[in-house]
Amino acid sequence: MKVLLAEDSRTNQILVKAYIEDAGHEIVIAQDGQQAVELFKDVQPDLVLMDMIMPVMDGIQSAIEIKKICDREDEWRPIIFLSAVSDAKDIVRAIEAGGDDYLIKPVDAVVLNAKLHAMERIAEMRQKLKKANRELRMMAVRDGLTGIANRRFFDETLTKEIKRAIRLKTPLSLIICDIDFFKPYNDNYGHQSGDDCLKVVARTMAKLSQRPGDVVARYGGEEFGIILPETTTEGALLVAETLRSTIEGLELTHKFSAVSEYITISAGVATITPVINMGELEQMAKSLIEEADIALYNAKAQGRNQVVAESHSLTP
Ligand code: GH3
Ligand code: MG
Ligand code: MG
Ligand code: MG
Repeated sequence: MKVLLAEDSRTNQILVKAYIEDAGHEIVIAQDGQQAVELFKDVQPDLVLMDMIMPVMDGIQSAIEIKKICDREDEWRPIIFLSAVSDAKDIVRAIEAGGDDYLIKPVDAVVLNAKLHAMERIAEMRQKLKKANRELRMMAVRDGLTGIANRRFFDETLTKEIKRAIRLKTPLSLIICDIDFFKPYNDNYGHQSGDDCLKVVARTMAKLSQRPGDVVARYGGEEFGIILPETTTEGALLVAETLRSTIEGLELTHKFSAVSEYITISAGVATITPVINMGELEQMAKSLIEEADIALYNAKAQGRNQVVAESHSLTP
């Protein structure tokens, strides 16, 4: 562990330094509370040992400042106060200022080590919790079967990107793809094979979206939505056509499709080019999805395995 000691007494500095180093930890020493705050930012210690009475800034004030820094960074760094007298009022003040524990001076090596150990354990537990929370957040926006973004993330991103498109006055395109004749695929090859096929198609689409802002999501059962910020209809048609031809090129056998011997997709493209007074955000997202849906319907009606945007179309 990296320990920051804030202590003005030279004797105590030497004593505590020896204890800390003997226990195999690293130590940085601040001469007063103010210096402790400054060193805290630079050193990023795992733990602070804080004397109560110091010149320039006392331990209580210094702890308050350090806790503020931690709150801003959503981090927890334990502070153990070093108190010369075991005055109950002092201890209460120290804990209220954000202290996590206290030690009575003169510091005992064994007790100090035990407390360092306890704090280390809490820090580890906190790290585990943070990791679990991160994973939970990821799970909430990920589709369980394919591992790509889910509908919830799609909806959130679309609203956010429409806002950004309005602000930056840039176009925004949406592609909605649907696997052709997927019901007969499931019916003939089984649901498990259907799931495997969905995984491959999803991963292929995710790999093909190159720009960092692009989002590929599972929109519904065998439908995928691709949000393309700063992309015109022409650009989106190219992306959609690349998706279509790459998926067909995977040569996933589908003997029960009426349009190909392989798995194919149809895709609909819609674009908004923001102008002033575009109306409600939710309404815009809805219209964009509706337009892409109509284009997709047209792609299906015109024979599937193709890409359609309002007035543009690319066929294989
Ligand atoms: P079209 O070419 O018009 O799109 O025909 P389709 O058969 O693909 O369309 P339809 O909407 O009739 O059927 C979609 C099928 O997709 C229904 C279901 O069998 C399958 N499906 C949807 N979600 C899943 C899933 O999570 N796993 C599997 N295995 N199949 C799914
Ligand atoms: Mg002192
Ligand atoms: Mg469908
Ligand atoms: Mg389908």
